[in-house]
Amino acid sequence: MPPPSEDLWLRAPLAILADAPGGVVVRGDRIQELVPAGGAPSGPARPFDASQHVIIPGLVNTHHHFYQTLTRACPASLDRTLFPWLQALYPLWARLTPDALDAAVTVAMAELLLSGCTTTTDHHYVFPAGLEDAIGIEAAAAARLGIRAVLTRGSMDLSVRDGGLPPDSVVQDRDTILADSERLVARHHDPQPHAMLQIALAPCSPFSVTTGLMQDTADLAARTGVRLHTHLAETQDEAAFCQARFGCTPLDYLDRCGWMRPGTWLAHGIHFSDPEIARLGRAGVGVTHCACSNQVLASGTCRVCALEAAGVAVGLGVDGSASNDGSNMMQEVRAAFLVQRAANGVEAVSHRDALRWATQGSADVLGRPELGRIAVGAAADLALFTLDELRFSGAGDPLAALVLCGAHRADRVMVGGRWVVEDGRIPGLDLPALVARHGAAARWLLAE
Ligand SMILES: [Zn+2]
Repeated sequence: MPPPSEDLWLRAPLAILADAPGGVVVRGDRIQELVPAGGAPSGPARPFDASQHVIIPGLVNTHHHFYQTLTRACPASLDRTLFPWLQALYPLWARLTPDALDAAVTVAMAELLLSGCTTTTDHHYVFPAGLEDAIGIEAAAAARLGIRAVLTRGSMDLSVRDGGLPPDSVVQDRDTILADSERLVARHHDPQPHAMLQIALAPCSPFSVTTGLMQDTADLAARTGVRLHTHLAETQDEAAFCQARFGCTPLDYLDRCGWMRPGTWLAHGIHFSDPEIARLGRAGVGVTHCACSNQVLASGTCRVCALEAAGVAVGLGVDGSASNDGSNMMQEVRAAFLVQRAANGVEAVSHRDALRWATQGSADVLGRPELGRIAVGAAADLALFTLDELRFSGAGDPLAALVLCGAHRADRVMVGGRWVVEDGRIPGLDLPALVARHGAAARWLLAE
C-alpha cells in the first residue's frame, strides 16, 4: 500500500527527539520539513494533533532470532550459560516447521512494532528439512505487517561430529548454504536507500561454522554488495574455544576469515581488549549491544563507551527471545541505559545516549543513514508514545520519562509514511488468534 498522497503535519508534539518543537511534515515516505516552535509548514499539510505525544525516530533492532519466541522461558534452558543453553535448545529448534516459524515471526514483529520499532533485522540460522524457505516466510510477514527489515541468511556447517557445538540435525553443507545465500540476495535484496527489505549474510558463530564457510561467505557478500553479520566475543567459553581450535582470539579469527572491513557488524562484542577495540574502529566494523540477553546469560557487559570512543558504530538488539525473553525494543533501550550507566558512570551515559544507540547508532550499524533520525530527507519512520499510563504520572522531562519510567508500548508507529500502529494496535492483526496459534506451536515444539 503506498503512503498517503497529501502531506501530514505531526503538529506541536509534547516532546520530540529533534530540533522541531513545531513538529514534522511527512511527504510520501520521507520527512519533508522540521517546523520551528510556533511555526507552520511552508505548504498545505493535514494536521495531526501530537500535543499528547512524545515523538522519537522509529527504533532499529540490529539483532534477533524471531523463531526463538517459540522457546521463551523454556524449562530445559533456564539458568544456563550460553553453551549448555544452546545444547538444550538445538534439538527443539531442529523441529521447526513453516507454520510454527510464520507464527513466531509474526509474534516477534508485532511485539517489535508495538514497542516503537520500525526497522528490524533477523538472524535465522536453523534450516531443518522442509524449512528451506525460512527467509521467504520472514519476508512475507514483514511485507504483511509493514515493518522495514534486514533479514540475514544465517548458517551452521560445523556440528558435534567435526568439533562444533550443534548436533548434525541442524547444520547444512557449505555448497547448499552458499547457493541459497546467493538466491536470497538475488530474490529479496533491495540495495537502494529507503529499501523496505534487504538481505545480509550471517554464519552463526565460531563454534558452529567452518573457517571455509566464513571465508566463502565474506567473498560472496563482497561480490553481491550485502553486509556480513555474526555473533562474536559473547562469552569466555567462545574465547576458550577459539584459543583451543584456532590458537587465537575470536577477533583474530574474524580477521583471518577476511571479515575486518566496513559492512560487518557483530552481535554482543563483549570480550575485546583495548587494542582489539581500536582495531574494530579502524576497520569500520559495527557492534550490536544486547543488554537484556547478556544479563540473562551472564555473558558480561559490552564496553559501549570505549567502542564509541574508538569510532565503532554501536546499536542495540533485543537478541533472540529465548535469551531475552522478549522482543520489546523500548525495554531494550532502558536495559542498555541501566547496564551502561552502571558500568560507565552518570556523566558518561544519559537517557539520550541510550535512545541514540537504538536509533542513529543502530541505523549506522546497518549502513542506513536515512534511518534512525528525524531530519529532512530521512525516512518517515517514527514512534509516538503517550504518557498517560500510571507509570508516567508525575514525570517532568517527557523524553527522559520514556526511558526512566519504563515506556514499553507505543501509541502510534509510522514506517515509510504509513501508520502501522494506531491507538496501540496493529490494524488488521487479530492478536488473540495469533497468541493462540503461536502458543499451540510452542507447546507442540516442547512436547515431542
Ligand atoms: Zn543472537
